Amino acid sequence: MTDCLFCKIVSGAIAAAKVWEDGRFIAFRDIAPQAPTHVLVIPRQHVASLDAATDSDLMGGLMLAAAHVARLEGVAASGYRTVINTNRDAQQAVFHVHVHVLGGRSLTWPPG
Ligand code: AMP
Repeated sequence: MTDCLFCKIVSGAIAAAKVWEDGRFIAFRDIAPQAPTHVLVIPRQHVASLDAATDSDLMGGLMLAAAHVARLEGVAASGYRTVINTNRDAQQAVFHVHVHVLGGRSLTWPPG
């Protein structure tokens, strides 16, 4: 997708602060962090949103990649939140599916 911001990060056309990657996924720091650890985990393959996802292996791998990143970031034992914003009411801004990994502080609930 030539007009997709996160596809441009996948291709290297836009720089990102990568923390981990493998053949299917990339994890990089959110440009506007909402917690001491705020990493986005994305598939290299373009999928617009969770609502558009059909590949259970890819989406399962995405969640395990998020858990791996949380361990790498040192927040797995203390705790972290994984968030997937989907479509308008959830304020999805970038239409390339991504998991937010948030941690490093006590997170409140319910979310806004
Ligand atoms: P969402 O509302 O779930 O679509 O979240 C999109 C996220 O992407 C936001 O938290 C933004 O701060 C983040 N973001 C936007 N542009 C970039 C970028 N170039 N590098 C890293 N994070 C970004």
